[in-house]
Amino acid sequence: MTNTPIPFGKPQLDADAFDAVRAVLESGMLVHGTVTPAFEKAFAERIGVAEAVAVSSCTAGLHLTLFTRGIGPGDRVAVPAMTHVATAHSVELVGAEPVFIDVDPATGNMDPAALEALDGPLAAIMPVHYLGLPCDMDRIMAVAKSKEAFVLEDCALAVDATWGNRKAGTIGLAGSFSFYPVKHMTSIEGGMVTTNDPVLANDLRRRRAFGYNRALGERTKPGLYDVDILGMNYRMSEVEAAVGLAQIPHLDNFMADRSRNDAALRAIVGKIEGVTVFPDKVGPATSSHYCLNAVLPRDGSISRDRVVEGLKQRQIGSSVHYPGPVPLFTYYSQKYGYKSGQFPVAEWLADQTISLPVGPHLSESDAQRVGNAFQEAYNEAS
Ligand SMILES: *Cc1c(COP(=O)(O)O)cnc(C)c1O
Repeated sequence: MTNTPIPFGKPQLDADAFDAVRAVLESGMLVHGTVTPAFEKAFAERIGVAEAVAVSSCTAGLHLTLFTRGIGPGDRVAVPAMTHVATAHSVELVGAEPVFIDVDPATGNMDPAALEALDGPLAAIMPVHYLGLPCDMDRIMAVAKSKEAFVLEDCALAVDATWGNRKAGTIGLAGSFSFYPVKHMTSIEGGMVTTNDPVLANDLRRRRAFGYNRALGERTKPGLYDVDILGMNYRMSEVEAAVGLAQIPHLDNFMADRSRNDAALRAIVGKIEGVTVFPDKVGPATSSHYCLNAVLPRDGSISRDRVVEGLKQRQIGSSVHYPGPVPLFTYYSQKYGYKSGQFPVAEWLADQTISLPVGPHLSESDAQRVGNAFQEAYNEAS
């Protein structure tokens, strides 16, 4: 069966998820129940962090955290030029200015030297663990300290990624994870903010639900509340939490499959002359293996469209992370006047990277098939 389609990503949902969703639907308790707190507890234990606050998406978590910390007009926040647009949008949404830093050509992560060289104040730094490889958190935390900024990790692709003996999402003030269907684990839509700061966690919980304060004044009777701060509705539903909670016992297998598939694919694609494959281990950083990115030569001599087409002909799905340096997306280039040529590494990746699947929906021989298909498609495009 060599022609079975292999999609880039596919959520892994077993009978336990269906049963958990049915139980929630039958209970009638669709929000404000006990499943969301149980999911928060299980996720915090998995990551090794004091608090986890469930939200409606990673983007919501990033925005909520910046908002809760009072980031706003006049503040500057360092963001890598190569990331999902959500990272920068969360800064724009609070009225602050994203300051884009080009990425390291060896890892795709925010270049720590460029961050260190940045002039002027910073209110926050948002490292993005690109495709699951943790950023150099020692250097980023040192810059944060010197600028009196806090660090908010974008952990959308970093479930179980490690920096020494700590996991991504436990090193900065907070981290925000994504449970979008094709990430490491899913809750349909959903996200989780992790932090070791109990005061921040409490503030996040209040502001994700309108800023309700049930303890204030006379309004402490059941169902009554006062509101003393501004908040959003960024809650996670009980159905989503049930799906997310059911994924946790499978995570060990998911991660082992990703690691095995990455190794099998890397053994083939990593040998192709002219293709750059980023390492999955750098110093204390170990990747969570979101995908294997194969980056074509900078000179554009190989057409990415043709390689992607060749993969498609062989029934192999792929993706691009990410299709633009964020500062060159129209919204940002029009607002801030960024021009092509200012972020050469991010531009190279945006134009030439291809993300290949390594998820738990692949067997080891599937991963080899993806590698061989890539080799053939690359040869045809050469
Ligand atoms: C997917 C992704 C997001 C957005 O996650 P949502 O849960 O869909 O909001 C943010 N940052 C990065 C790096 C991502 O890959």
